[in-house]
Amino acid sequence: MPKTVACPHCGRPVVWGQVSPYRPFCSERCRLIDLGDWLNESYRIPPDEAGPDVNASPFDRSPEEEANGEEGTNGGQAPPH
Ligand SMILES: [Zn+2]
Repeated sequence: MPKTVACPHCGRPVVWGQVSPYRPFCSERCRLIDLGDWLNESYRIPPDEAGPDVNASPFDRSPEEEANGEEGTNGGQAPPH
């Protein structure tokens, strides 16, 4: 009883031996189709070099600093009448 494997493309049993030159695929067609799919998959991978979109700056001014700046410019004292 010859050992058989499942064709990666169509799942049909393929005899693992000299009689199956395209093993583990059942036929040249399945091998080419599967190879084509694999190439398409690899080509379809989008370039991920840009990285995540980061808008938040780590050097954002804190609200405390903003308040201190306003205090300096604003006298806050009503002019004597
Ligand atoms: Zn097949």
